[in-house]
Amino acid sequence: MHKTCPACGKTESAALPFVKAFCVECYSEREQLFEVPKKLELKRCTRCNKHFVSGVWKSFSEEEFGEWAASKIKSRLPISVKQVTLRAVKGGVLVTADIELEADATDIKKQVPITIGLQKTLCTNCHMKSGGYREAVIQLRSGTPERLRKVAETLIKQCEKESFVSDYEENKYGIDFAVGSRKVALQVIGALGRHFTHSNTLIGQRQGKRMFRATICVRMD
Ligand SMILES: [Zn+2]
Ligand SMILES: [Zn+2]
Repeated sequence: MHKTCPACGKTESAALPFVKAFCVECYSEREQLFEVPKKLELKRCTRCNKHFVSGVWKSFSEEEFGEWAASKIKSRLPISVKQVTLRAVKGGVLVTADIELEADATDIKKQVPITIGLQKTLCTNCHMKSGGYREAVIQLRSGTPERLRKVAETLIKQCEKESFVSDYEENKYGIDFAVGSRKVALQVIGALGRHFTHSNTLIGQRQGKRMFRATICVRMD
């Protein structure tokens, strides 16, 4: 006994499943299955391409960007996101999400376009970096140039996760580079597990707090 759709008169079949009394097509038209916010916007840093999401600047792979956009689709039905594709459009990105909604044991496939507006700006770190800001200088000393370079590369990668690095310089004493955050520089050097010395110079005040620049010196021999 196959059902007949009261809206279009079609009969239930493998190709045309029903949700309750209606065929899946009419059901989709009659019910609001999902909603996408009309205006979605993200700030993007024009220097490092990080995006400002939930209050922090973070790196987004294309996949993560697509997942983030798809997470904005709201529905009272269970949603699974099958695939997302991204395309650059004027002023932003057009994300197309292939989703499946489950209504009364019937899967409803939909393709949802989501437009994300991008506001071009500088992230906090790039902004500070462009202004010459730095709270620490790391000096690597002794050891072969190859060894120092290798250690510097690792340290820089770690510092850049949470802060930024500028003014990298190889000189006759070793390698010097500046780090935006004193706290991050000290953490990264501490994790190296080697003896280091550090001295602080007062560089001014920020929001009523005295700010220091640390000069951190590590010997690699
Ligand atoms: Zn129908
Ligand atoms: Zn940036």
